[in-house]
Amino acid sequence: MQNIDWKSLGFKYMNTHCHIRYVWRDGAWDKGELVSEPYLNMHIAAACLHYGQAAFEGLKAFRCKDGKARIFRPQANGERMFKTARRTCMAQVPVELFVDAVKRVVKANEDYLPPFGTGGSMYIRPLLIGSGAQIGVAPADEYTFIVMVMPVGPYYKGGLKPVRAIILDEYDRAAPQGMGDVKVAGNYAASLFAHETAKHAGYPVELYLDAKTHTLVEEFATSNFIGIKPDGTYVTPDSHSVLPSVTNKTLKQIAADLGMKVEVRPIPFEEIATFSEIAACGTAVVVTPVCEITRGSTVLKISGPDACGPVLQKLYETVQGIQYGELPDTHGWCVEV
Ligand SMILES: *Cc1c(COP(=O)(O)O)cnc(C)c1O
Repeated sequence: MQNIDWKSLGFKYMNTHCHIRYVWRDGAWDKGELVSEPYLNMHIAAACLHYGQAAFEGLKAFRCKDGKARIFRPQANGERMFKTARRTCMAQVPVELFVDAVKRVVKANEDYLPPFGTGGSMYIRPLLIGSGAQIGVAPADEYTFIVMVMPVGPYYKGGLKPVRAIILDEYDRAAPQGMGDVKVAGNYAASLFAHETAKHAGYPVELYLDAKTHTLVEEFATSNFIGIKPDGTYVTPDSHSVLPSVTNKTLKQIAADLGMKVEVRPIPFEEIATFSEIAACGTAVVVTPVCEITRGSTVLKISGPDACGPVLQKLYETVQGIQYGELPDTHGWCVEV
């Protein structure tokens, strides 16, 4: 066990023993190796640097109540990266290889996995890049697949804290037929300026409307939008340019299991005012309750600024309960290391 103050961990990079690295050349992936140096020796003409052939994933491993280490839904992330690779003409990582890579690197760094009860987890960051030299615009002829891991703390020490969100109509994240539905690095570059602008104005998260008409809710910069109606219905947008979040998929299933109605459909901006609870959802934080959404001079109040609403709280506790092995994993989501 590493000598780490588990309770004071935040969400930031930390070196561990090693990452795992695979290279694709001449049509095949190699066997992968554990590498301790956190540096890549890369060609200056690598396609990822010039033409954006770069994709990533984010998932977590947990030290469960029974002492075992489990990874949450790695197949789902593997399948998503497979689709992202296809959309960006990169060599695809077979889902079995992806899951095996994640297991190998978690196992090799098991002493960095925060103990049960600390609220921490191990963040797993797979990365796929075109590493072959390419000056004419074309897909690279060599790819590198890396999985790094690091211990992270609970995002919210002391309960889910609601945040204020803002819609900045002068920026879009993803075009209607663009790459909003795949996890490419470029989507983040596209959202950084708006994110910094929102942050400086005092809003930790920004919400995007559909790029074409600016009338429908899409998602937050790095997390999906979920709204809860006063009657308990779970509503989330149906859009080609929203990233299919594994957390959202999980929460939809849990909501249905709890007997809630789940709707995946277009959400007009005006409908925001009718929700009793709204949250941003994603792997890093699970759910971030949103108490208020500002657009120009309009301020829509959703809930009180002090506490998370009861429905989101229940959903959050259920996901965490399954992840830490305190509740039964009826859907077979957790993969033992
Ligand atoms: C990664 C990501 C999410 C969250 O997906 P999870 O699988 O739940 O972590 C949501 N929106 C965007 C734009 C993302 O890149």
